[in-house]
Amino acid sequence: RDNRWRFGHFLQLNPRLLSPRLSGISLGVVVREYASLSHLHKQYFGFPGEILMRMLKLVILPLIISSMITGVAALDSEVSGKIGLRAVIYYFSTTIIAVILGIILVMTIKPGVSQTAEHIDRAGTTPNVTTVDTLLDLLRNMFPENLVQACFQQVRGFLNESPPCFVSWQNITKDYKIIGTYSDGINVLGLIVFCVAFGLVIGKMGEKGRILLEFFDALNEATMRLVQIIMCYMPVGILFLIAAKIIEVEDWEIFKKMGLYMVTVLSGLAIHATICLPLIFFVIVRKNPYTFTLGMAQALVTALMISSSSATLPVTFRCAEENNRIDKRITRFVLPVGATINMDGTALYEAVAAIFIAQLNDYALDVGQIVTISITATVASIGAAGVPNAGLVTMVIVLTAVGLPASDVTLIVAVDWLLDRFRTMINVLGDAYGAGIVQKLSKRELERMDLTSDVDVANP
Ligand code: ASP
Repeated sequence: RDNRWRFGHFLQLNPRLLSPRLSGISLGVVVREYASLSHLHKQYFGFPGEILMRMLKLVILPLIISSMITGVAALDSEVSGKIGLRAVIYYFSTTIIAVILGIILVMTIKPGVSQTAEHIDRAGTTPNVTTVDTLLDLLRNMFPENLVQACFQQVRGFLNESPPCFVSWQNITKDYKIIGTYSDGINVLGLIVFCVAFGLVIGKMGEKGRILLEFFDALNEATMRLVQIIMCYMPVGILFLIAAKIIEVEDWEIFKKMGLYMVTVLSGLAIHATICLPLIFFVIVRKNPYTFTLGMAQALVTALMISSSSATLPVTFRCAEENNRIDKRITRFVLPVGATINMDGTALYEAVAAIFIAQLNDYALDVGQIVTISITATVASIGAAGVPNAGLVTMVIVLTAVGLPASDVTLIVAVDWLLDRFRTMINVLGDAYGAGIVQKLSKRELERMDLTSDVDVANP
């Protein structure tokens, strides 16, 4: 019965999501063909989509804060420790699997062997950023010095020509040409660390902490109701997002040049999403993984449209809790962390892209360098924020680690907007499967808690 309900739900969602996507494509193609829009008009055209992005981003902050604090406080520290550990083990193992899959594919298909770096236009220059810089930035972000600032500023960075480069202020040297600051909104990692600590403390405060717990629980409920309202606007927003992108793209020729590379990345992502993750899910959870994927359809389409795991988070929550019936005590804890550090799609993409660039440069990689690529691609995916094109930027550390020119990241910029959408989709799917798997593994602890606690704040 449950499965039928889910399938019915998916069918019900489909016309709402797929038709705006299809009509968005047709609208984009028609306008592109018959109207020559100025830059300003293109901006107006993208405006309804921009509003959708803004609304989704708007609820990220209250959502992350309320879900993490209540999620952690509702569990005792031993249980949250166990759940956290299981989630981290899942994140690492699936990311490594994704990287290995990417490496096998790119070494077999060899998309960069038939052409050379000279055949593809470089889109600018990029300064070198080392692995140490990125790791230090990651740690800095985990401990924001100012909580208020963390709510509106991610890694302090700047745009250095094209593509954008994130480097914290501490690393800015005179070699860099600073043309603006980069802020992608929220320092999610820093907030998560703070909320986990705060939630743990509230959980230990007993009666005194209860008022705070109830406050954040009510905040969470209110935010999710807002999400429900935003979702009514989604079909319109999605239609214009996709149409505006089709109108905006200038160089379609590049897709021919980069065809094999794109096929390699996309087939890796497809195999990971339809074979690797479902297999792990089935072995552990013993339920149909594809029904689970269907339950996440709305979040996956959102990720595909907006290229941001963080901005998709509100929809991911709704799909996981309502369609896939994952316990709120798990989603509140596992999804925000997953959206920030678990990026299988990004890791796979970084490994493929680095080896593709090596092939373009006729640069033979030895086994040690391939292992280095797997490790740095994993670190780079953890370090990437859940925002559009973040993976392209952290890609620089993978290239520098094996001695490839960091500036060659510009060889793959032109097609990144498209690949980013697909890898974000896999990032979101990986987080959702993670929540399902952690729930199954934590069943005993959750049942024990249900028996011992009289009032369940997470699932009132
Ligand atoms: N856009 C991706 C995400 O939000 C990150 C990336 O660029 O790979 O998950």
